[in-house]
Amino acid sequence: MTTIRAAVLEGVGGDLEVQELDLAPPRAGEVQVRLLASGVCHSDLNAIDGTAETRCPAVLGHEGAGVVEGVGDGVTRVGVGQHVALSWAPSCGRCAECLDDLPHLCGTAWPMMAQGTLLDGTTRLSRGGKPVYHYSFISSFAERTVLPEASCVPIPDDVPPEVAALVGCAVTTGICAVWRSAQVHAGQRAAVIGCGGVGLSAVMGLAAVGAAPIIAVDLHEGRLEAALSLGATDAVQGAATAEETAERVREASGGGVDVAIEATGRSDAMRAAFLSTRRRGTAVLIGIPAEDAVLELPALSIPRMERRVMGALYGSARPERDFAVILDQYARGRLPLDRLISHRLPLDGIGEAFDLLRSGSGRRVVLDLAD
Ligand SMILES: [Zn+2]
Ligand SMILES: [Zn+2]
Repeated sequence: MTTIRAAVLEGVGGDLEVQELDLAPPRAGEVQVRLLASGVCHSDLNAIDGTAETRCPAVLGHEGAGVVEGVGDGVTRVGVGQHVALSWAPSCGRCAECLDDLPHLCGTAWPMMAQGTLLDGTTRLSRGGKPVYHYSFISSFAERTVLPEASCVPIPDDVPPEVAALVGCAVTTGICAVWRSAQVHAGQRAAVIGCGGVGLSAVMGLAAVGAAPIIAVDLHEGRLEAALSLGATDAVQGAATAEETAERVREASGGGVDVAIEATGRSDAMRAAFLSTRRRGTAVLIGIPAEDAVLELPALSIPRMERRVMGALYGSARPERDFAVILDQYARGRLPLDRLISHRLPLDGIGEAFDLLRSGSGRRVVLDLAD
């Protein structure tokens, strides 16, 4: 048993509090990682404010990177000392989706993820002998974690940990939605609605494949400026209604876009994305809505204009393939991923990190966990 410091959510609506917890060693098929960095993602905020049901007490954080310091029986993918970026979507390789070559849609791990355990239905985190729950298998708001081998993606040692952490969620969700889910190609007209960490990553992915124009939409001036600096060609201020926002995008794109990427998870923004598309255009929905959210769309335009709506989970990515592709492009200066980071804080700054996230003004906040 190792004592670790970790930020604990006691219950919905609470503040995260850094405490000492016990971490049990990895069991078969599990890996212990010394965490070096963790991004702070909107899904963590959904857990805190109750938008997504989360078993508590829990250690949140699902966008992490670190170094392997212990492995359980049967682990072959990584060894001690290996640098890893962490994937919250471990796949089993055996279910119908995995066999259909859709490992990102593997459902095997979801029940355990929902109950806050590792894949065997138990936790490695505890406090006074009572379980503390994992979050998305990762629990990266901590000094160390134990997680499934399938969540550990080997990366080169020289990748900055803060960049590797972001590749674990926001970057892959945004970039691979463009490259893998929607398979955008050069010259396609695109819009990105919502320019936080995921949306800005989508902007970079669009710029990398030569989409044009790339119209960034957000309510915050600072985020629009960031989008322009990362490859957007136009910036459009979000309007009071979806119709009005879409009208601005259609005007800026000369009649609508081929691909409208929605990265906020809000129904009105999804509707704006749909209404921004031209004939045969696709609204790509990547933001995670509330469980009871409903999306209303003008139905006639779907057959008449051949408009499409596409969902994208984790950018339809294969983490082992796509983390490497993304980090290679980063190393060559073609994806300036480090410029997503607006704030760096220690673990004890976790409260401030969520204040920044709630304010919506910053880009990505990263916790520096290296000691
Ligand atoms: Zn996330
Ligand atoms: Zn599977």
